[in-house]
Amino acid sequence: MFFKDVVGQKELKKNLIKQVRSKKVPHAILLNGKPGYGTLPLALAYAKYLFCENKTEEDSCGVCNSCLKTKKLQHPDLHFSFPSIQAISNLSDAFLSDWREIVQEKRYFDLYDWIKKIDPKERKPIIGVEESKSILQKLFLKSFEGGYKVMLIWSLEAMNLSCSNKLLKIIEEPQPKTIFILLSASVENILPTIISRVQLINVPKIEQEPLQRYLMDRLNMGEATAQTKAAFSEGDLVSLSNEDGLSELHFDLFVKLMRICYKKNVVAMLDWAEEISGYSKEHQKTFISYAIHLFRMSLLNNYHQEKELFVSEKEMDFLSKFAVFITGNNIEIFMKKFDEAYRSIDRNANTKILFSQLSFWVMRAIHRA
Ligand SMILES: [Zn+2]
Repeated sequence: MFFKDVVGQKELKKNLIKQVRSKKVPHAILLNGKPGYGTLPLALAYAKYLFCENKTEEDSCGVCNSCLKTKKLQHPDLHFSFPSIQAISNLSDAFLSDWREIVQEKRYFDLYDWIKKIDPKERKPIIGVEESKSILQKLFLKSFEGGYKVMLIWSLEAMNLSCSNKLLKIIEEPQPKTIFILLSASVENILPTIISRVQLINVPKIEQEPLQRYLMDRLNMGEATAQTKAAFSEGDLVSLSNEDGLSELHFDLFVKLMRICYKKNVVAMLDWAEEISGYSKEHQKTFISYAIHLFRMSLLNNYHQEKELFVSEKEMDFLSKFAVFITGNNIEIFMKKFDEAYRSIDRNANTKILFSQLSFWVMRAIHRA
């Protein structure tokens, strides 16, 4: 991954390059931001640049020995650590070939994409205490190529407490020439003592213009479509690429919920809650984000007459009828209750109860329009 392949993020790239060129590379940085903003592509471009033997002022050379190895994610001094399904293996190394595949295929992906890749049962992956031993072991090895040694830890928020505690000391005082590149989607669940030991870099959303250009040049979209898509993805390339298959299922779940709540069909509402609580938590969370997106779209549809709506034809068809039920009288309830549900899933709430309650809120809110 070159810096030039990272979509947007011009300022940030400039700063990272400057750090390396002025030889002021911090021993640990934390790139924090949604995966769809490009935290991982940035980290990979940064690592490649660190290792490159003939770097230019803007990017890695792409042809030196180091570049060829980092390209295949097989540089012996570039180590990866990421959440693993504990029931399969508690070490990242067991999933390394999956990791190389997903990075090379998708480049922009989130934890849910990762779960789908490595576990058909979609269990929650973590970085556990066994992994900390493996990380320490790798870092105490001498570097193979005599230069930097990089430990890239992806989805730091999935690291549990005992693992974090074991790594505190080495993150504060790593061996010479050892660099930690940590990535997180949110700092909420990260130990403050880790955050205080690293240089925290908040990665912002991708700017509208380069995102739009990327969609036109690389994905061959027309200008108008690219513009709308870029606007509604809110600078997030993962949310943009997740629209296909999943959204079909989410759409059906959403339509069903609205219909039965409108009819006040309590039995069907409880069935609905039962159905959705059978899905994985990540899946439930994407559904909620999708629902929030549709609420926003129907509100826009009410006030702006569909001009810039980022929805499919089928969604549009539904929204045009449904939008009358979303008004200033209830939009806040919808947003608030769905947002609360999202957070509760993270806090391990009983999802069957949670989705039943949510459906009751929807029923009340619909009839308040
Ligand atoms: Zn190179």
